[in-house]
Amino acid sequence: MFDYHMHSKVSFDGKDPAPALVEAAVKAGLKEICFTDHIDYFANTDHQDWVFDTQVYRRTYEGLSHPALKIRRGMEFGLKPYNAPQLREDLKRYPFDFVLGSVHFVDEVDVYFPEFWAGKTIFQAERQYLEETLACVQAHEDFDVLAHLTYISKARPHPAPRPVPYEEHRAVIEEILKELVRKEKGLEMNSSGVDRCGDFLPYGVCFQRFRALGGRIVTIGSDAHTASRVGQYSDRACQILKEIFGYVCTFQGRQPIFHRL
Ligand SMILES: [Zn+2]
Ligand SMILES: [Zn+2]
Repeated sequence: MFDYHMHSKVSFDGKDPAPALVEAAVKAGLKEICFTDHIDYFANTDHQDWVFDTQVYRRTYEGLSHPALKIRRGMEFGLKPYNAPQLREDLKRYPFDFVLGSVHFVDEVDVYFPEFWAGKTIFQAERQYLEETLACVQAHEDFDVLAHLTYISKARPHPAPRPVPYEEHRAVIEEILKELVRKEKGLEMNSSGVDRCGDFLPYGVCFQRFRALGGRIVTIGSDAHTASRVGQYSDRACQILKEIFGYVCTFQGRQPIFHRL
């Protein structure tokens, strides 16, 4: 089992040190993990940058090892429609194994904050988030896998948390998936939505469509910000991907490795 999305204290919002996450991963029976700390510019309501210190990153992860676990080093980059040059610049920080592309903001507003939801129906908020995601995947070439496609459904001020309904947003979700296929990028099954809105971000039907459209690369991530969530629901995610793809991917040096399930 694998967990390819987690944050140690290297991230501004990580709660536990990296060795605690490693121990938790071994306890959960995982075979391989990847640290994916945040690089997110012009973030939050005060528009600060949430960017890890490369020296701290190196000091934390280089030399971190465990005989029962493969440990990879990645990052989670906050995509904006205009910041592809910034991502290229940040890739020079370290020879990352894996780069998640994420969308946390729409027009510079964090969808986690009530400000984004003011005056919108749930449908409108979902649609706006997905349209921003489409613009981001169209503008970017240098990430490996799109993280939590339906992140909007776990946003805190969400008046009635629900998994983003595929049928209601079919056209825009299909455009996003087609763009990922065209660019040979992957799709992440993020388990952090299970407790928050009742399903994976995104859930099975999106992976079925991704596969039907020619998508090949799929990863699993808990998005753990604490040791206690490492590997959470990874077994359920594996089961779903086993039925749809028969494998799950890990990465080394930005290249996907396919593991038959
Ligand atoms: Zn994220
Ligand atoms: Zn994350």
